[in-house]
Amino acid sequence: MARTYYAQIMSWNWDSIRKESRVNACHEEGECDDGCDKDGHTGAVYLGSVMSLTPSGKFYTFWTTNQTNDDVDRDSRWFEALEKAATKYDGYVEHGDGDPTDLFFYRYWTNEELA
Ligand SMILES: [Zn+2]
Repeated sequence: MARTYYAQIMSWNWDSIRKESRVNACHEEGECDDGCDKDGHTGAVYLGSVMSLTPSGKFYTFWTTNQTNDDVDRDSRWFEALEKAATKYDGYVEHGDGDPTDLFFYRYWTNEELA
């Protein structure tokens, strides 16, 4: 099952996601977000919402009760597969600052890569 989620996620257009993260990277200090430093900047790409992407289609937190153990199990394996795919493309996944149901791919680009 984990392999199925991974295969599914790997079928996304990662080359394009990765390229877009370079386009979206901040190029000047001042507009920087977490993850930037003097040697480089991060760029984010919106992947979609937790509800549209995860197997359960639910967003839950420790105080919600509408999820089943099966949901949690499948979703955690799905998130692992997503992290693995993002790592393969030199990036990582984070939830949106404004809306935690939003999922973003982040990649760090060095100043040389951005030049
Ligand atoms: Zn920056």
